[in-house]
Amino acid sequence: MGCRKLTVAIDGPAGAGKSTVAREVARALGYLYVDSGAMYRAVALRCLLDGIDVRDEVAVSRAAAAADVRLVDGAAGVRVLLDGEDVTAAIRRADVGEAVPHVAKHPAVREALVRLQRQMSAGGGVVMDGRDIGTVVLPEADVKVFLTASPEERARRRYRELVARGDRVTYGEVLEAIQRRDRVDSSREHSPLVKAEDAVEIDTTGRSVGQVVDEILALCARKGGTVCST
Ligand code: C5P
Repeated sequence: MGCRKLTVAIDGPAGAGKSTVAREVARALGYLYVDSGAMYRAVALRCLLDGIDVRDEVAVSRAAAAADVRLVDGAAGVRVLLDGEDVTAAIRRADVGEAVPHVAKHPAVREALVRLQRQMSAGGGVVMDGRDIGTVVLPEADVKVFLTASPEERARRRYRELVARGDRVTYGEVLEAIQRRDRVDSSREHSPLVKAEDAVEIDTTGRSVGQVVDEILALCARKGGTVCST
């Protein structure tokens, strides 16, 4: 019997645990994991490298149209390629984090990346995480999840990640940066961060990755999704 390949959309604010959970769900089902935020980060990095003001809509749109952004699934996990260069680590820099919500506001940037995201999910067997996956990119997704957590919990997680990586930041700075990014993402005119009406909301505060993953796998099983060894 062939496997039934679902499309799974996971949205939510920064630090809610989307990428960790989405990666685990994809692994458990044998699906492709698409980190849509990494694509916006790659365009933001292109702008920073080229000295483009992220508020300059014309210049940013031109950069987004010209940029070759690819997600490559390999043994070491998903690598992000920008114009042929591996930028997997560079897109996590704090200056990219500051620039990205401004880049992501521009409709032409969103159109270019949404087109790519839809191409990547054609045929199903995909778990995609982001801000507008269930509402705009894949409105017909089989399973839609909206992950949340308190701002303090989200900042704590991000802080731990950054410190483990050797960054010198304070918890207060991380909390402030997360709240700033939430504000821009939720109040923007095009595709703001909102829960899709038919998304299942899961609050991850105080819950383990495993518990949240199991809950999403149960939603997938209910939709008839089966493990696909690709
Ligand atoms: O998921 P991550 O936190 O890496 O996303 C970085 C930024 O990219 C978000 O703060 C948001 O501005 C933008 N983004 C978006 N739409 C998506 C995914 C990310 O606007 N689907």
